[in-house]
Amino acid sequence: MKIRVEQPCPQCGGLITLQASDRLLTCPYCGVRNFLQANGPFRYGLPGKVDTAEQDRLLHAPYLRFKGNIFLVTDAGISYRVVDTTRDGFPMPGLPPSLGMRPQAMKLVRLNTESRGRFLRLSVKAKVILDKAARINDLSGKRGNELYHRAYIGENVSFIYLPLLRTDDMLVDAVTGRPLVALEKIASFPLKGAPFNPRWQINFLATLCPRCGWSLDGEGDCLVLTCSNCDTAWQVGAAGLERISCKIVSGGADTSIYLGFWKISVHLPSMKIWSFADFMERTNQPGIIRRQWHDRVMNFWIPAFKLRPKIFLRAGRQVTINQWRLDDEQEMHVLPSLYPVTLPSLEARQALKVILAASAASPKKVFPYLHGAHAENISSTLVFLPFIDQNHDWVQPQTGTVIAKSILRFGRSL
Ligand SMILES: [Zn+2]
Ligand SMILES: [Zn+2]
Repeated sequence: MKIRVEQPCPQCGGLITLQASDRLLTCPYCGVRNFLQANGPFRYGLPGKVDTAEQDRLLHAPYLRFKGNIFLVTDAGISYRVVDTTRDGFPMPGLPPSLGMRPQAMKLVRLNTESRGRFLRLSVKAKVILDKAARINDLSGKRGNELYHRAYIGENVSFIYLPLLRTDDMLVDAVTGRPLVALEKIASFPLKGAPFNPRWQINFLATLCPRCGWSLDGEGDCLVLTCSNCDTAWQVGAAGLERISCKIVSGGADTSIYLGFWKISVHLPSMKIWSFADFMERTNQPGIIRRQWHDRVMNFWIPAFKLRPKIFLRAGRQVTINQWRLDDEQEMHVLPSLYPVTLPSLEARQALKVILAASAASPKKVFPYLHGAHAENISSTLVFLPFIDQNHDWVQPQTGTVIAKSILRFGRSL
């Protein structure tokens, strides 16, 4: 579902409507661009219809929104599901278990220091809510299937608050005005809540290159901004814009587009994977293991843009297995044909074991060992790979990775 958020411009105050996935705010009135940064999940509210005088009496009930892909590795294989859902984080009689279609039927407001009323605390662990939302039990298939690994990959979780109004004897939905539950029935629930926490406030970062002061390039939903003046790449971290390691594999004259992959170097000691040769052996790839592969550190190649689960697995597996065919990487140079990065490196790390499972020619040698496997010495580099235009597809010539153009467009709205 598409969620729209109403956001005042920090410069001129003009109201801007953006998508919940947008990180880059461009003001159509004054032209100022800002990158949104938060210390934790984004928090939104459904707009309540209450008088100014009543606003201090509002109670905000938390719902968790998860949008992303869930992958499960079981003895029956790899299964996945695209999930987009809201779930109650404060279960109480009278409150709906989910917000259903409401978040996309209206524009949400972003919470800020001027948000009034009190906020009920999340009383269920986010992980429990996610497992429930994912319906893990259905997804793992027939009873008795052994679950070896599960991963949530995609956008992070955000909070959407449902505003409630307390009358003398009832709790009322402040969006619809409908009474929800009699107060006497919920007397045992902690309804005190807490005021807006200043740590929830988002920050607006200037989109100027911290190194040279040039204006950074990027579109609404991109997570990495590039500087075409000094050829650097930046992502939003806890301390503002942080420079990330970024390389490019230059393509031939027929290159139409460059797609980013997170190249993640790891050791998986419990699975005896240190080098690329170890990986090829462990996953039982056909063909001869070359001697020089023993000196190549193991890298997983994870798409740095959102894709449907099936294509995500296939692209990650193909580039990972065929990485030795790629030309050498060079220092990044910014080109107009760089496709935006929409999957952050932290999310990509969640995909390591899923891509390892997808690469296994003999699942028995890999799946049962995933649970206890811990990746060590992780370092990640963003690498742009060249793709050529072949009718309906983008094709990476060295690795043979094919991504349909229509799917890439779909990924932008995922
Ligand atoms: Zn403005
Ligand atoms: Zn610069």
